[in-house]
Parts: sequence; structure tokens; C-alpha cells
Amino acid sequence: MFIDNLFLIFLIGAVIGSFLNVCIYRLPKNLDIIYTRSSCPKCKKKINWFDNIPLISFIILKFKCRFCKKSISPRYFVVELISASFLCFAFVYVFNYLDIILLSLIFYILVIIFFIDLKHFIIPDCLNFILISLGILKNFFPETSLNLNQDIFQSFLGGVLGYLIIWLLIFLYKKIKKVEAMGLGDAKLLSAMGFILGIQSIFIILFIAAILGLIFSVPNLISGKSSLKTAIPFGPFLILASIIYFYNF
Ligand SMILES: [Zn+2]
Repeated sequence: MFIDNLFLIFLIGAVIGSFLNVCIYRLPKNLDIIYTRSSCPKCKKKINWFDNIPLISFIILKFKCRFCKKSISPRYFVVELISASFLCFAFVYVFNYLDIILLSLIFYILVIIFFIDLKHFIIPDCLNFILISLGILKNFFPETSLNLNQDIFQSFLGGVLGYLIIWLLIFLYKKIKKVEAMGLGDAKLLSAMGFILGIQSIFIILFIAAILGLIFSVPNLISGKSSLKTAIPFGPFLILASIIYFYNF
């Protein structure tokens, strides 16, 4: 590790997490993410800087807005904690700056997609396109220490297959069951993972994502909370599956 102040890195990660929260809240609503000051989602009052300190303010304010006292979703805290922990992890295990920047960009965009899809069942195109661009660009990087695919041929095949396979699943589902199983956002997301991890990752990611989806759905199906027609966002499962693939294959 070349920066030995892990506390500082944790802080920077938490600040980044705070920005990720802004993106998660505002991107699906097409709101500006840079120039507008944060406000309470419930009472719309502007948040003071001292109430906007990542992680700490949530604990001090006991997850409630200072003005309207309505509770603030723990998601904000969780995202900042994930973001901060990830950056520490990256600095401990990855040994050059370019790799850390690349890995962080990919991871942070996946975090934004994860939480937007979970709540709104959409994946903004701009995020998928940034991921795809990163997946293509990294083929031209000097050899990375990361477990990413850098063979340009396999990368492009992965990108194309990732899109086609989900497009085909959507098409077949519509024909046979007359339901929309997934969206093209999922197709673009798997395409991005194909560009990043290579063609050999596609079937494994899809398989793991399907298993995760099943594990998540079965308890709700049994308890009658949902039926086979209940929509569940597939993006979060694709993302978890990609992370599992990245660490294990
Ligand atoms: Zn409020």
C-alpha cells in the first residue's frame, strides 16, 4: 500500500459515497447532480453543511431530518459505508493508481445502477454507456493487475453476446408468456460486463444472477407475497453476479 493513512482514504470514500447518493436520487428524476444543494426529500428544506457530513451526520441526527423529523432512508448511510470500505479495500489490495481509478469508476457506477434499479426498475442509459466505454478503453491500458479481460477480441465478443442473450430472453418471454421479463437496460448492463470481463464471463454471470434471483424470489413466492408475474429488477442480481465472478474466476 502506498498511502498509509487508511482513515483519510475511508473519509474520501465516504465523501464519494455522498455524491453517489446524489446521483441515485437525482438521475432517475433527470435533476441536476452538480449545482443544486442537497435538500430533505420529504420537506425540501436545504440541508446545512454541518448536517451533511457523510456517515457522521446520520448518526448525530439519528437518521431523521433536522427540520421535519421524518426518517431518512438508511440507504444513504449504507451507500456511504460501502463506498468508503471499498476504497480502503482497493488501496490495500491494488498496487497502482491507474488500476485503482479504473476499478473504482466501475464499482461506483455499479453501486449507482444497483440502487436506482432496485427502486425504480430502470437503468439510465448514460450509466450503461459510461461502463461500456470503460470496458472498451481498458483494452488499451497497459497490462493491469486486475482480473479484467484485456483481449480486445474477447472483450468485443463479450459486449455483443451480453446484449444479444438478454435481448433474446426478452423476445422469447414476450412470445411465449406474453410478459416483459427484463428490460433492455439489463441487456446493456450485461453487454458492459462483457466488454469489461470478456466473453467467457457472460454465461457464468447470467447463471449466478439467475440463481441469486431465485434465492431471493422463492421465499416471497412461498409466502404468497409475490406471484410469478411480480416484477423484480434484474440489474442488482447481474451486478452481484459480476462481482462474484470478478473475485472467483
Ligand atoms: Zn425534512
